[in-house]
Amino acid sequence: EFDVLVIGGGPAGSSAAIYSARKGLNTGIVADRFGGQVADTLAIENFISIKATEGPKLVAQLEEHVKEYDVDVMHNQRAAGLEHVNNQYEITLENGATLKAKSLVLATGARWREMNVPGEQEYRGHGVAYCPHCDGPLFKGKPVAVIGGGNSGIEAAIDLANIVEHVTVLEFADTLRADEVLIRKANSLSNITIIKNAQTTEVLGDGKKVTGLNYTDRVSGESKRLTLAGIFVQIGLIPNTEWLKGSSLELSQFGEILVDAKGATSLEGVYGAGDATNTPFKQIIIAMGSGATASLGAFDYLIRHSEQ
Ligand code: FAD
Repeated sequence: EFDVLVIGGGPAGSSAAIYSARKGLNTGIVADRFGGQVADTLAIENFISIKATEGPKLVAQLEEHVKEYDVDVMHNQRAAGLEHVNNQYEITLENGATLKAKSLVLATGARWREMNVPGEQEYRGHGVAYCPHCDGPLFKGKPVAVIGGGNSGIEAAIDLANIVEHVTVLEFADTLRADEVLIRKANSLSNITIIKNAQTTEVLGDGKKVTGLNYTDRVSGESKRLTLAGIFVQIGLIPNTEWLKGSSLELSQFGEILVDAKGATSLEGVYGAGDATNTPFKQIIIAMGSGATASLGAFDYLIRHSEQ
């Protein structure tokens, strides 16, 4: 039986495991893919104190740091269910095995919703981007598009307008779903153009990087082309919490794990961290901070609740 079992091996889970092991707690990590989204990231320039690094390099360092401690890392394992049985938690894995723990840190992260059009995968990290806070400065003085006219899309456009030459927002529907105040702000900026009824059909590139995109005007049926250096896809971030839906853990309407300031969820002894939770900002440094918070929360819980 683990004192703390961490589900997820991204920055949030790694940080949670290190904090918990440093408290002398018997700690395990179950990770489908160690490193999580960081493994898919090229340049990282906002991980404070390290001026610039690359995703795979940071993942290797995370793993090395976790290995410094007595943490049982279970690679390539997916959690499929969570149950509370006889005062302890049971995590069922997809392979049928069951792990028992006094407390849990759930840090299964999230994934960006993709456009699923030709060229998107090929140019991912070479012009196709998902995080304006991360990659905005790479497109300084260049034309970019934002796909999606919801709050995150319009926020991204306003953010990028300060940095890039021009932002074209493409919205599939005939109205924007963003808050009125954001739409007003976007409309007031001279280097933002908003195109509605636009269905992106293809990402264009020169074999190395993005050069533009094709979209269909859904009213006229015409096919149109934009010349671009970057495309920010902002059509949703999906938390990896489908596996928790059968449990009694409280999730937001978007499927995010609801946590309080100590990382505590609706179940006693179960903590949440990182992109899988309702944290408003999704970044590596924030995920690591929340992993530390969750483990300190779990420690606090354990010293109050476990009899020796
Ligand atoms: P994740 O990194 O998503 O990790 C989740 C972990 O849980 C993984 O190990 C995964 O395999 C595992 N998992 C999921 N489901 C299960 C399951 N059922 N059972 C077991 N394990 C499971 N942020 C920055 O700060 N700077 C950047 O430059 C930056 N660039 C980015 C570029 C890209 C392309 C992407 C996609 C994201 C970027 N981000 C960046 C965001 C950053 O990567 C995330 O905020 C951060 O990784 C979140 O950490 P996390 O640990 O919460 O989740």
